[in-house]
Amino acid sequence: MKTIGLLGGMSWESTVPYYTTLNRLVAERLGGLHSAKVLLSSVDFAPLEALMRAGDWGEIGRLLAHEAIVLEEAGAGVLVLCTNTMHKVAETLEAAVRIPLLHIADVTGTAVRAAGLTRVGLLGTRFTMEEDFYAARLARLGIDVLTPPADARALVDRVIFQELCRGQLLASSRSAYTEVMQELVARGAEGIVLACTEIGLLLGDAPFPVPLFDTAVLHARAAADVALA
Ligand code: GLU
Repeated sequence: MKTIGLLGGMSWESTVPYYTTLNRLVAERLGGLHSAKVLLSSVDFAPLEALMRAGDWGEIGRLLAHEAIVLEEAGAGVLVLCTNTMHKVAETLEAAVRIPLLHIADVTGTAVRAAGLTRVGLLGTRFTMEEDFYAARLARLGIDVLTPPADARALVDRVIFQELCRGQLLASSRSAYTEVMQELVARGAEGIVLACTEIGLLLGDAPFPVPLFDTAVLHARAAADVALA
């Protein structure tokens, strides 16, 4: 079994389900007392969030590349960056280490295509919804992306940073998100990509008329596959 290097803490709330999912899957597949071999580098999110707001992606890339090297040197066989947004600097991390980075958008896109869908709504931080680094990666897999209108994007982004990353899961935000998702479905989305690793925590298992792709769960599942391959 390969050791999985989790680069998490962005936010720590969403790193927890990665750890849980990985261990559950490895125990299911190998049985008995088997559990996942995991190294975790969990960063302090506050300075990174400030750098995002300042648009200093160069410094973010340098800081995260340093953590990736620490994981590689400690023995990780695969790198799992537990956030969608920070994949904006995925190439900087890939250039810094020899171990493969399991790209969250590739994992998600593969799941979307496996479900037979080619047009999805995308919810995430404003960086993920408004910039090209994520949607372009899905487009490479033949997937069209719809994003919410500007006011809804602002709401989705605000809830992520002000509530979800602080462990607040409010019923009012759950219904606001549901309305945003319904509008995307009305515009033709065949599924919704929860392209922020905290959104699954807010929505839980509530039924929705089209498939929801929880990137944290999909990413952790794919990491378990790599570890056990
Ligand atoms: N966890 C979030 C994501 O998946 C947002 C926090 C961040 O900016 O890293 O994008």
